[in-house]
Amino acid sequence: MERIYNSENQFTNWKLEGRGEGFPIECRAVIDASGVSGAAAKFLDMGGDIEVIAGFQYELNDVPNDGYLDFYIWPKYSPHGYVWMIPKEGGRANVGLVTTEKKGALKHLEDFIEDTYLNDKPTVNPPWRTKGGKVRPFGGTIPISGPRTTTVGDGILLVGDAAGFTSPLFEGGTHLALWSGREAAVTLASAIKDGDLSGARLMAYEKAWKKRFPPYHKILKGKTALYELSDEEMSAMARCLPNELGNMSPLDKAFIGLKILVRRPLLFTKRVISVLLSFGYSRAKFFGW
Ligand SMILES: Cc1cc2nc3c(=O)[nH]c(=O)nc-3n(C[C@H](O)[C@H](O)[C@H](O)COP(=O)(O)OP(=O)(O)OC[C@H]3O[C@@H](n4cnc5c(N)ncnc54)[C@H](O)[C@@H]3O)c2cc1C
Repeated sequence: MERIYNSENQFTNWKLEGRGEGFPIECRAVIDASGVSGAAAKFLDMGGDIEVIAGFQYELNDVPNDGYLDFYIWPKYSPHGYVWMIPKEGGRANVGLVTTEKKGALKHLEDFIEDTYLNDKPTVNPPWRTKGGKVRPFGGTIPISGPRTTTVGDGILLVGDAAGFTSPLFEGGTHLALWSGREAAVTLASAIKDGDLSGARLMAYEKAWKKRFPPYHKILKGKTALYELSDEEMSAMARCLPNELGNMSPLDKAFIGLKILVRRPLLFTKRVISVLLSFGYSRAKFFGW
């Protein structure tokens, strides 16, 4: 990726080298949506390396589908992470986990399947994989260290995972990727119209996501407090929550606080309020978990 500047040292366009007939490509601007690999940030040495967590899953057949997914915070199977069962069409389901534990993560997932109601369900390769091979899990890595320090430069904007945009609580990133992609396009369209593709002009994008996205550090604080709770404390907290977390009024929230205070006052010393606040900030309704 090479930037071209005019005689007044103003950025004018890109020259992109690559494999294939179309290269080199010349273009006015680049939106890097290359996911966790962060291609442009690497090529341009934009700094702010991101840490990642591994997430993987098996496809299972014959899993009953009641229209809801299962979600377990169960440190025995997924230390500092969680396990899911996402039902799909025709009795298929993705059963997977994320964990910070690098060794033994796959064994944890297999133990989970064996120890739960999923133990007699056949594990298969997903339909997009070549038929006949050994059944293997699938997945990838997810950024967990927060947005890159730089998401904008002369003629370039980073979006989605490439910018490090995932929710720190449960690493959801699809909403953030979609929102940032649209915002980058809007910013770029207006910059092209004004004929100014400088990093300074494109900073409007960085300002917009900083204003809009949930407060990363506050959510991270809640996540740390969440994983410091024991299984038993997590269950006690969960029993104080309503079935539907979506539309809670301030009164509902105060009532939850009161319930915890009456039932398990010691949970307050475990920073359970920051856990609850991070659930609030990182709601599916806004930006995914
Ligand atoms: C196992 C797992 C489970 C997840 N579950 C959830 C979930 O339940 N909810 C949720 O919100 N999020 C989830 N996520 C995170 C979510 O998938 C990502 O945050 C989201 O897909 C990011 O979108 P993106 O468009 O930025 O990147 P991606 O979806 O990764 O897309 C990037 C694309 O760019 C391509 N690419 C990479 N390099 C180049 C290159 N040099 N040239 C051209 N193309 C390139 C890649 O092949 C890819 O197609 C999960 C992630 C994993 C790994």
